[in-house]
Amino acid sequence: MEILDILILGSGPAALCLASELAKQNLNIKGISTKSPKEKWENTYGIWASELEELGLESLLSHRWSETVSYFGNGENKKENIPTNHNYDYGLINQEAFQNELLKKCIGIEWLNETAKDISEKNKISEVICLSGLKIKARLVIDASGHKSNFVKRPLKNDIAQQAAYGIVGKFSSPPVSEEQFVLMDFRPNHLSKKERLCSPSFLYAMDLGDETFFVEETSLASYPALSQENLKKRLLKRLNSKGIEVSEIFHEENCLFPMNLPLPYKKQFVLGFGGSASMVHPASGYMVGSLLRRAPLLAEKLATFLKKPHLSSLDLASKGWEVLWPYELIQRHKLYQYGLKRLMSFDESRLRSFFSNFFKLSTKEWVGFLTNTLPLPKLIYVMSKMFINSPLRVKLGMLNLK
Ligand SMILES: Cc1cc2nc3c(=O)[nH]c(=O)nc-3n(C[C@H](O)[C@H](O)[C@H](O)COP(=O)(O)OP(=O)(O)OC[C@H]3O[C@@H](n4cnc5c(N)ncnc54)[C@H](O)[C@@H]3O)c2cc1C
Repeated sequence: MEILDILILGSGPAALCLASELAKQNLNIKGISTKSPKEKWENTYGIWASELEELGLESLLSHRWSETVSYFGNGENKKENIPTNHNYDYGLINQEAFQNELLKKCIGIEWLNETAKDISEKNKISEVICLSGLKIKARLVIDASGHKSNFVKRPLKNDIAQQAAYGIVGKFSSPPVSEEQFVLMDFRPNHLSKKERLCSPSFLYAMDLGDETFFVEETSLASYPALSQENLKKRLLKRLNSKGIEVSEIFHEENCLFPMNLPLPYKKQFVLGFGGSASMVHPASGYMVGSLLRRAPLLAEKLATFLKKPHLSSLDLASKGWEVLWPYELIQRHKLYQYGLKRLMSFDESRLRSFFSNFFKLSTKEWVGFLTNTLPLPKLIYVMSKMFINSPLRVKLGMLNLK
């Protein structure tokens, strides 16, 4: 039976980002996926425009906004409705163009429509058994099958916080946001009763898509247990109705649910992960696409070097891969983000508004670096300390887990 250099599981953004880089390395690679790699991705992927610009990929944006704002006031009077201007471009990725661009680069990689059922390592080689009964052997299996991966091993954790959101792309009786505007977070709670304000907070993520079409999404940053889609839908409609806005036409509904604080995978295992399976979602924001694009080239290059050593087993190769993907620096940064997220999840809506209002007083370079996980560790510590020192007392106490 043929032994591949690499078998990739999945055909989502993680699989294609890495495959497109591995394709440059002259390796024998195949992919298997439950869905065809050509099947249109369902999720709406947003990203700070600079993340694509730095990679020369800004043409992949279908929409781009310069008027980017958030609302952290209580919404009850003029002053409490003043937006925080981010003055930083945000965009929506054109899924089709992004997918096609990556697929175009996957030269020589054949994808089979199969679902991996089981993976084992025998005589230094991995064997994947598919639901159809097909068996495939490879020196290294890369699991990019998403957040619910069955194959990547990690410490068990029961209280996994999830980001949840319910969104509508559609037409409305009146515009939910201003023309050409992007709203990152609208936390104004003035449509909620006192009792409702005590529940796990959520915010509005919204944008003008042009042609009288808008995308509005009620989002819970992270919560355990996760907020249900019904609850978020109810909240979204209540928020819109309080402004006299009715939904007149729905083109697409987005149901979003993914883990924010999955423990990092074990480094000693014979399967390597990438993407959701490898806990690569930013634990403080939920973003991942920028990180996939930035981290895939180095991993692909290193894997090609490791594969040149024929004596290395699947376990050796995957362990080396995990070291590249999760070096000391990134692990420490991840721990800081996880700490921050844990504290934020304990905040009520008013403390959360106060936290974010203060967070966006950092310099643009600092908050963008924080949200895109591009600050080196010492700088991240500096930025988090600065944020803490400048916080109101109530936020400081919350960050320290004091009442
Ligand atoms: C609704 C939603 C919106 C999001 N919005 C953003 C955003 O705006 N910006 C951002 O940066 N991040 C966003 N994220 C977070 C993250 O970027 C996505 O979850 C992303 O899709 C994860 O990519 P992935 O390739 O790891 O997994 P997935 O996209 O889940 O892809 C997994 C692939 O593996 C295949 N598969 C699964 N099991 C098997 C198996 N056993 N064998 C073979 N194939 C298998 C699937 O068919 C699929 O092709 C969002 C997430 C969701 C759910």
